[in-house]
Amino acid sequence: MQTNTRVLVTGAGGFIGHHLVRALKVDGYWVRGVDIKPAEFEASPADEFAVLDLRKWEHCIQATRDMDEVYNLAADMGGIGYITAYLASIARNNTLMNIHMLEASRLGGVKKFLFSSSACVYAQSKQKSADVTPLKEEDAHPAEPEPGYGWEKLFAEQMCRYYAKDYEFKTSIVRFHNVYGPLGTFDGGKEKAPAAISRKVALAPNGGEIEVWGDGQQTRSFMYVDDCVEGLRRLMASDYREPLNLGTDELISVDGLVDLISKIAGKTLRKVHDLSKPQGVRGRNSDNSRLRQVLGWEPSTSLATGLVPTFRWIEAELAKRPAEHEVRAA
Ligand code: NAD
Repeated sequence: MQTNTRVLVTGAGGFIGHHLVRALKVDGYWVRGVDIKPAEFEASPADEFAVLDLRKWEHCIQATRDMDEVYNLAADMGGIGYITAYLASIARNNTLMNIHMLEASRLGGVKKFLFSSSACVYAQSKQKSADVTPLKEEDAHPAEPEPGYGWEKLFAEQMCRYYAKDYEFKTSIVRFHNVYGPLGTFDGGKEKAPAAISRKVALAPNGGEIEVWGDGQQTRSFMYVDDCVEGLRRLMASDYREPLNLGTDELISVDGLVDLISKIAGKTLRKVHDLSKPQGVRGRNSDNSRLRQVLGWEPSTSLATGLVPTFRWIEAELAKRPAEHEVRAA
């Protein structure tokens, strides 16, 4: 398929953005990728890749020049350890990026703007049980989101709605529920649970121990990155302007996730729970009723399927690194 549509992907040096650029290029779009850093694990296939700091207004003007569609995925974000540790800087960085990107896109004549929000916007009081009722889009209000990151996402959602109302600017809002897959951060503090657990399992000897944050009974649902990209593109093509969940409703505990990844690795590991580590809300699942209704589609890759390439990729990346004793000797 060849198309004249010019697409900007912000956060193209990151996990979801990189996968999205790949998919858009396969379908013949002209793509500009923007990030504060280059893609980490393989070169970006974008037609043009600009290293810009989107907290700066002038950089947003530069990024959005001559673009038809914008997928605004850039964010300062990470797993639960990261987002609970840096409330002020995360909220500040992301608010600056989102308000500048919205206004620069509108002034620059962008036709459609998609904002990547998060399940962290949901009211915390509705996520107190591991056996949680799946969250519907309206459960984000009255507002009681995750401190810092969640508040900032909720505010940016509102900004998208105001832009749609006041300027008839076409905005879409997607709420991701835990995305995983190959080519994502798996160490350094910003990694999320599936990548962190895959790394720990890959590094542990068979019969050894694995550290698990919290008591392991906290629950989540997880979406494979290919489904995420497909959902993003379907939402961009739709006329839907309100927030929409994008996730699976396959609920699993963190201990269950450890067991699944250990099985893929062919290892038996003893879990050691660290109750001093953050575990986030007790339970979170996605209600996909509206997603099915709006897009006529929902993610279908099971965790047992999607974790195989994820684990294998992380295992292979770790194998490329020198062993710790080699680093010490150097
Ligand atoms: P990621 O961290 O891999 O990608 C985000 C990218 O934004 C990074 O490459 C980062 O360098 C870039 N960025 C940060 N600050 C920037 C700046 N000042 N200027 C330009 N670029 C900057 O994260 P991801 O998992 O690919 O997430 C993409 C989007 O989806 C984010 O908005 C995130 O909040 C949202 N989201 C992701 C998940 C998930 O499970 N991965 C869940 C909910 C929401």
